[in-house]
Amino acid sequence: MPELPEVETIKRQLNRKVKGKKIESVKVNLPKLVKYPLAKFEKLVKGATVKNVSRRAKLLIIELSNGYALIVHLKLTGQLIFNGEVSKHTHLIYYFTDNSHLVHNDLRQFGFVKVIPKDKLENFFKKEKFGPEPLSREFTLKVFKNLLEKRKRSKIKPLLMNQAFISGIGNLYADEILFKARVRPDRVTSSLKSSEVKKIYEAILKILSLAISRGGSSTDTYRDARGKKGNYLSLIKVYQRDGNPCFVCRSEIKRIKMGSRSAHFCPKCQK
Ligand SMILES: [Zn+2]
Repeated sequence: MPELPEVETIKRQLNRKVKGKKIESVKVNLPKLVKYPLAKFEKLVKGATVKNVSRRAKLLIIELSNGYALIVHLKLTGQLIFNGEVSKHTHLIYYFTDNSHLVHNDLRQFGFVKVIPKDKLENFFKKEKFGPEPLSREFTLKVFKNLLEKRKRSKIKPLLMNQAFISGIGNLYADEILFKARVRPDRVTSSLKSSEVKKIYEAILKILSLAISRGGSSTDTYRDARGKKGNYLSLIKVYQRDGNPCFVCRSEIKRIKMGSRSAHFCPKCQK
């Protein structure tokens, strides 16, 4: 599933590729993808120019010149590819007036496109109850400590993945962050020492920034806006490496069940 680094990569690329382009028409092959009356949607985007592409949590926000924004959630298998090939998984195509186009593919069809007036965006995000953006200036160590104080009985891995606690982190990066911080994924937050909290905080910033610089991770269907795979995969230390030796101490990487999800960690490196 695309997490913050993948969505951020797509956002940056779309700003280079489609910002300023005028939409000539759209073709919707899968009506349920668009959470808006279809005829109205087609009329609304036609003739609009892409003003900017931004991101909040794992959502892409395509701001149009007509006062509306398209909110795109890629969920498990969504892709937005500039000048991408049209396949049976292409559910939406934006055609631009300069003969270029943008395809929205989604193999599993869990994703969606919503239409929100730009002046209602803040309200929309508030309703979604997103936690702070981990790479924003507002997300300081103090803020992180205060947030943990309110969730004393939570286990750290599911908490990092809780979008109301902090935005954008999913299964893969939560595992990698906790390996870097040397903290077991099943630790209860009240048991964390101040030094461990600091290590987790620093690992969040470091891992997410590094992943963005590598264009994200392609463990399955993820492709960036150019249709290319991300390069972070070769840097993965624990995620889905259960049964393999730890790169640091050679112990076997373990996988444990945590609710409906699993966690991967090194039992020797992580305490
Ligand atoms: Zn190890």
